[in-house]
Amino acid sequence: MQEYLKGLNDQQKEAVEHINGPLMIVAGAGSGKTKVLTTRIAHLMNRGVDAFNILALTFTNKAAAEMKERIEKILGSSEARNLYIGTFHSVFAKIMRAEANKLGYPSNFTIYDTDDAKGVIRDIVKDMNLDDKHYKPAFIYNRISAAKNSLIDPVRYKLDPHITSEDAKSSRPLLGDIYDAYAKRCFRNGAMDFDDLLFKMYVLLVNFPDVLAKYQHRFKYILIDEYQDTNEAQYQIIKLLGAVHENICVVGDDAQSIYSFRGATVKNILQFQDDYDDVKVVKLEQNYRSTQSILNVANKVIANNKNQIEKSLWTSNDLGEKITLVRTLTDNDEGRFVADAITEQKLRNHYHNKDFVVLYRTNAQSRSFEESLRRMNIPYRLVGGVSFYQRKEIKDYLAYLRLIVNQQDEENLKRIINYPARGIGKTSIERIQIAANQYDKTMWEMLQFPDMLGIKGAGASAIENFVVMIKSFQVMLEKGNAYEVAFAVGKHTGLVQELYNDKSVEGLARYENVQELLNSIKEFTETPDEEGELLDKSLGSYLQQITLLTDADNNNDEDQDVVKLMTIHAAKGLEFPCVFAVGLEENLFPSAMSMYSREDLEEERRLFYVVITRAKSRLWVTYANSRYRFGQLVQNDPSRFVDEIPEEYLERNFTGASHKAQSQIGGGFGNSIPKNGNAFEKTPSLKKLAEKIQQKSAPVPQHKPSGDFIADDPMAMEVGMEVEHQKFGFGKILTLEGGANNRIAAIEFKDGHGQKKIMLNYAKLRIV
Ligand code: ATP
Ligand code: MG
Repeated sequence: MQEYLKGLNDQQKEAVEHINGPLMIVAGAGSGKTKVLTTRIAHLMNRGVDAFNILALTFTNKAAAEMKERIEKILGSSEARNLYIGTFHSVFAKIMRAEANKLGYPSNFTIYDTDDAKGVIRDIVKDMNLDDKHYKPAFIYNRISAAKNSLIDPVRYKLDPHITSEDAKSSRPLLGDIYDAYAKRCFRNGAMDFDDLLFKMYVLLVNFPDVLAKYQHRFKYILIDEYQDTNEAQYQIIKLLGAVHENICVVGDDAQSIYSFRGATVKNILQFQDDYDDVKVVKLEQNYRSTQSILNVANKVIANNKNQIEKSLWTSNDLGEKITLVRTLTDNDEGRFVADAITEQKLRNHYHNKDFVVLYRTNAQSRSFEESLRRMNIPYRLVGGVSFYQRKEIKDYLAYLRLIVNQQDEENLKRIINYPARGIGKTSIERIQIAANQYDKTMWEMLQFPDMLGIKGAGASAIENFVVMIKSFQVMLEKGNAYEVAFAVGKHTGLVQELYNDKSVEGLARYENVQELLNSIKEFTETPDEEGELLDKSLGSYLQQITLLTDADNNNDEDQDVVKLMTIHAAKGLEFPCVFAVGLEENLFPSAMSMYSREDLEEERRLFYVVITRAKSRLWVTYANSRYRFGQLVQNDPSRFVDEIPEEYLERNFTGASHKAQSQIGGGFGNSIPKNGNAFEKTPSLKKLAEKIQQKSAPVPQHKPSGDFIADDPMAMEVGMEVEHQKFGFGKILTLEGGANNRIAAIEFKDGHGQKKIMLNYAKLRIV
């Protein structure tokens, strides 16, 4: 027997060894579904299936990368590079690059993230003279997203009586028109939003039989993890792609379906057996992840849901410790409890920081944990939240890069046409926009003829200079890689200089972020391509990769020893020795919105099931009597889910309440005097500043340079020198390359930062 089959149980083996025909694995958490999927791919390849013929769809890009790595290990070869493996969005984006022309899009189409898309919607609402307080961009975006995920185009949207009556009821009868205008505007901009990547993929396969046949032939084996969270569009695409070979393997757990608000439907699991003849169904019943206590609690909690597929799940693991239920007075006390408990566990049970995760219902809850972890000097990483790529300075930089790749795109053009200021005024920009709408041309096309727009003198020549500059970057695209172009952009647009001139604390942070961006682009150009097909280090390829990072992907320091903080949604599929399930309060978890229907409430309970089943050894469930929400102190009852945990597995710990005595001495609200006695929270402005700094979500720095930092002359640096970097601390120069303008040093940093390439022109580096 092959080595990789040896550790599997009989059911797992059965699933792995099933080669041809549809296969469905529905099983509870931690039963090895993902492991089976990975091993099955290795097995297929071992049996002679070409990696090029295998398509595997995962929930995050990171999961895909891990799978590839494991498969490579199992097989002992690098063949896994040739697998088509990734999220639905990244795989379809890749296919779309090759096929978008057929749908009238440029092959270098831009991918809009949620923010970009809302920006376009905001413009349209404004153009239509509607009130954006009523026609809220975020609301409209969700509505359009739902339509696309159900494969409803603007025409069908406007004709569907159910949809139109719903819009009429919410007094937003023009939503259909906005959707229509939005679709047209995106098309004109040569842009697709996330949902388009699915929707257009479907349109492509349905309208171009030759394209469909090509991919049906290519993907002889299709495997999908987390199938319970697929939506209608994904379901239909898979059905089309798999229709010839029917070698589709889906893996999922209906009890973990948590994305129905994005149009995912459990129905896809239920229907699988009707869609194909001879579906092999495998049940996995042994949980390998959690202690008996944790698993029993999970089973009991989920049993309260009426709608579910019957499953049983057992484990031969130890009984383990009881679940600790913690009540605290305030949310800040809750944060403190978690930091204290981590410190204690590390001392007593030799856990590392990376063994802990804090899981909350909404991103806004992260603040109190960040604050207390910082105070206790425990390094942490916030996963998701305001991601690096959403920061203004990064978006500005990326807007240039995206415009260079695709000039059709107006959103990016508008963002940077006068940033840094170059004398193209608001009125001029409005004129260009209006003319573009009038002639149904792109703004870029209109920019070629400023005098036709009635813009003269200094304004006209500013426009001309801008156009020449962008065109010169375009020329670079042909020969330069992503980094070379990005570097030139920073230098010649004045963008980096602008940030450099701002000497405030925030300005320095922005400058460093841009430096970080450039570092990451450099890294991208130097890392071998995982996709294996082409070594594409172009700017376009870089932009696509970063736009498709999911929340759970924004955390590329897997090996760093840090506590993770994330929402439950981002934690799907992951496991940790120690889990803190926090904020178990009515109106928060379950959320206030979910209390009106059984379906919504059951989805919240599934979320709780997901939290519990992330834990291997220890689980804490915490709630606070009161917390600040939306600027007000609110009193909360414990979540109804807490009552569903059987008493026999519970150990109550109201340590958190001991903070009560402490805070009462301080008077005022329960959280006004922190444990270490500094009065930091008392001063509102300081508190605000602290929050701002925390939003940056960096792990606690190991090294803090003191006093003013004065950088030394880059040309004075030599290999072997000990240097100090403002952010990464002390290190040694390993190599130096490049001339005076683009001198780059490879530096081995201490304090766990590892090796980094630093551009000396931008870095603040001091010889020590
Ligand atoms: P989830 O529903 O949370 O996605 P899952 O069903 O995908 O969970 P996996 O993540 O594949 O479960 O496996 C859970 C844990 O159990 C992993 O650490 C995995 O390595 C381990 N595991 C799975 N099968 C076995 C086995 N046969 N022997 C030992 N360990 C196993
Ligand atoms: Mg899994």
